[in-house]
Amino acid sequence: MENTDYKVQVFTGIRPSGGLTIANAIGAVNPIVKIQEEEEVGNTMVFVADLHALTDAEPKETQSNIVDVVKDYISLGLDVNRNRIFVQSFLTQEIAELNLYLSRLVTIAELMRVPTLKEKIKKGQNESNASALLAMYPIMMASDILLQKSEYVPVGEDQVAHIEITRVLAQKFNKKYGNVFPLPKVLSLGKPVRIKSLTGNGKMSKTDPSGAILLDDPIEISLNKVKRAQSAFAKEKSESLDSLVLIGEFVGNEKEREEILSIMKRHYDGENVMGELKGVISTGLERFLKEFQEKKASLKEEDILKKVKIDGDIARENAKETLRDVRKAMGLEYF
Ligand code: ATP
Ligand code: MG
Repeated sequence: MENTDYKVQVFTGIRPSGGLTIANAIGAVNPIVKIQEEEEVGNTMVFVADLHALTDAEPKETQSNIVDVVKDYISLGLDVNRNRIFVQSFLTQEIAELNLYLSRLVTIAELMRVPTLKEKIKKGQNESNASALLAMYPIMMASDILLQKSEYVPVGEDQVAHIEITRVLAQKFNKKYGNVFPLPKVLSLGKPVRIKSLTGNGKMSKTDPSGAILLDDPIEISLNKVKRAQSAFAKEKSESLDSLVLIGEFVGNEKEREEILSIMKRHYDGENVMGELKGVISTGLERFLKEFQEKKASLKEEDILKKVKIDGDIARENAKETLRDVRKAMGLEYF
């Protein structure tokens, strides 16, 4: 095997910072579910990013969510027999080591310009209260991806800039020390998705439940949020309306998707159809959430723990092998 061969074809992660939203399902989980249906895709890997959750919460608050996130992945259609699933903190040492080497290749100014950091800064964090770990977030993400030598990374639009940083770090490293890292690419079905918060305030996020459809919530709560969601006036285009349509298309069956299409046509012809649109979306959403919650309730914690231990060992082996290449390339093996 060449140093720069990919080890993992599709790779993605989710933070255990709360229950998953429909936006996580659409942006990060659905692309990998769809791709696993293609026979030729062999090696896919997803992980629970518990170290990334350290930027906002104490481990005590997030560790109990880990098994839950794995259950979410599976309930959203991830095939356990065809995907590796691991927990990021199985690889803390390996990640910390690569963080150290990669940090040298990026300046503080470059980190401060990362859009996700800017978004947090808008929400009240600033240089005097944000931790250095928050600024390091893109480096840690690069370490996750590069340790597994991943080819495609399905992410929502908010994370595209991080994949770009990963590519830049890999290119800088390769240029300085010789080819070690193959370059990862963003995987999305069409263009990267950004589902807006239903209240219209930024993107939908687990950590901002007021505008989010949380998959574990009592279904009535989510249907009420859809009823009250921001949309658009007749004939007008808006990001909120686009997001509602994306959600409707994701949860809808064929008939509902056709209905949405024809309702949207009437919308652009100037009719007031937002109530009707929300009605169709709610029907699909109710069915989708019911099926999701039933599947999730049937999963056993002990099976999940067994699976993440086996897969964690494989991910760690991959990471160790990559680090051997890295140290050798850097000349860190004098003794
Ligand atoms: P948090 O508020 O904790 O950051 P989050 O909802 O942003 O939660 P993450 O764990 O940060 O979730 O991201 C998991 C994946 O979901 C990433 O690939 C991210 O790009 C994707 N994602 C998150 N929010 C959206 C969104 N609004 N639209 C599309 N994809 C999204
Ligand atoms: Mg996020």
